[in-house]
Amino acid sequence: MIVGIDLGTTHSLVGCYGENGPKLFPNALGELLTPSVVSVDEHGHMLVGQAARDRMVSHPNDSVAAFKRWMGTPRETRLGSRMLRPEELSALILRALIDDAEAATGEKVTEAVISVPAYFSDAQRKATRAAGELAGIRVERLINEPTAAALAYGLQEQREGSRFVVFDLGGGTFDVSILELFEGVVEVHASAGDNFLGGEDFLDVLLQAFCADTGIAPERLPAGELGQLRRRLELLKRSLAGAGQSSLEIALDGALRNWSIDEDRFARLCDPLIQRMRAPVERAMRDARLQPAQLSEVVLVGGASRMPLVARLVSRMFGRLPLRHVNPDQAIALGACVAAGLKVRDQRLEEIILTDVCPYTLGTKVSRRDGNGQVQDGLFSPIIHRNSTVPVSREEIYYPVYDHQKLLSLEVYQGESPMVERNILLGEMTIHLQPDRSAAENGVRLRFTYDINGVLQAEATVLATGERHELILEQNPGLLTPEEIRARLRALEDIKIHPRSKQENIALLARAERLYEEHLQARDLVQQWIAQFRQSLDSQDEQLIREHRGQFRDALDQLERQL
Ligand code: ADP
Ligand code: MG
Repeated sequence: MIVGIDLGTTHSLVGCYGENGPKLFPNALGELLTPSVVSVDEHGHMLVGQAARDRMVSHPNDSVAAFKRWMGTPRETRLGSRMLRPEELSALILRALIDDAEAATGEKVTEAVISVPAYFSDAQRKATRAAGELAGIRVERLINEPTAAALAYGLQEQREGSRFVVFDLGGGTFDVSILELFEGVVEVHASAGDNFLGGEDFLDVLLQAFCADTGIAPERLPAGELGQLRRRLELLKRSLAGAGQSSLEIALDGALRNWSIDEDRFARLCDPLIQRMRAPVERAMRDARLQPAQLSEVVLVGGASRMPLVARLVSRMFGRLPLRHVNPDQAIALGACVAAGLKVRDQRLEEIILTDVCPYTLGTKVSRRDGNGQVQDGLFSPIIHRNSTVPVSREEIYYPVYDHQKLLSLEVYQGESPMVERNILLGEMTIHLQPDRSAAENGVRLRFTYDINGVLQAEATVLATGERHELILEQNPGLLTPEEIRARLRALEDIKIHPRSKQENIALLARAERLYEEHLQARDLVQQWIAQFRQSLDSQDEQLIREHRGQFRDALDQLERQL
């Protein structure tokens, strides 16, 4: 079976294209959204999802979240006795999602379409593919998130000939895309974004304001208290919408703190973040050669787009109120499911054609002689311009600077700066030239091919000899080699994961531990409940466990309501 997956910074979802269109599968707790959090318990078992998110508060040093931000980098996180790369952490999330899909359908998942931010670089995309391999599935396709959202939206609305903007503000990334729907074709005109802007940054604004007002140095707080403070501020951030003012009471450093903030102040403090959202929007509009008046709709997706200040920015920029027909948390996943349906050529989707663009410029480093004969180094020479429709293949011929030059170094870059030092190096190689030739006779043809998954291939041909070289773009410290992937796959297989049937119990215990941490007044009680529930688990009497589980959950619900 092929599934569609939204592997989000904050939440992940899985589904497939079913009888009646795209359909999402619930996790073991019955939720469609699985928090993208991993944690390790005392016995070295890995926990994924809500249980891990609760443990983020009670066991911050054994838990990790938002690792999508490190995809494409070699950064490792210690969990128990292991050091895990972002690909491996993502693989654990993918495995949990696959288990959920298999439990819902009884079929084996072999392939997936996974969504990635349009602005993900080559290394970040390759890391996502590696995560799929580490989870034991084939990643049939990577689909850009706004494109997926547009697919879900376009199919639902069936509005012909409309041009629209998809504006996606998630936990850690911001993406904006301009699309057009006509006669079953979903065409992406332009994408732009910021890989380091999302709801988390708005949370940081609240954290800074809280700390400034209360005189608390966040780095001096014990990790548990900081985790708790972030969780409470996250709730406050969500409750601020439309409330005018929100407050919180929290015990920190042995003292009870009261704090409140109103929407106006929050909006003022967030203004720099809001301003940062303008540039990608303006750039995408320019690249698509459109004026705001030529757009029929603005579609908001991503959890953080629920903040009224985001809707206000959109209204100001486009002179209209944004739409939110498809659930903003589910749009991307639903679109990934549609893409999965397209892949297996589901008959009901036969009519749809999807085109996408390469969101950034790809090129190489060159030197040029200026008017005075001086050689200028480090210049960027674009080969594929950003927002070219993919798949795309382009070539350019380059000549050495000097006659009888023996070697030519080719470097591949991604970015928009005229100087390569400000762009991202994707790979390099040295090519041997024919030293008996003049510069003009010693050209090298460089061909770049960018496929629908956003994966780049670069090939160099020495014109004099016809000799061809494939540029290896995998030599990035942020990427695993195929051998490393195989080794890590074996190591991951030894990781102990609680069976799906136990997830509910584990999540309840994790939640109780979090409440113990947070709720000083009720600690004895919570501790007692935990001990009792552990006792029933030890009895292995399923009937008894089910009964106690219900009571335990009700008690925790009640306690949480008082919080
Ligand atoms: P991702 O795609 O990165 O996983 P999501 O689309 O799930 O992210 O959005 C997660 C972000 O949305 C978080 O930063 C969260 O704080 C924010 N968010 C969710 N609901 C709300 C809300 N009601 N108000 C403000 N922010 C919200
Ligand atoms: Mg998202």
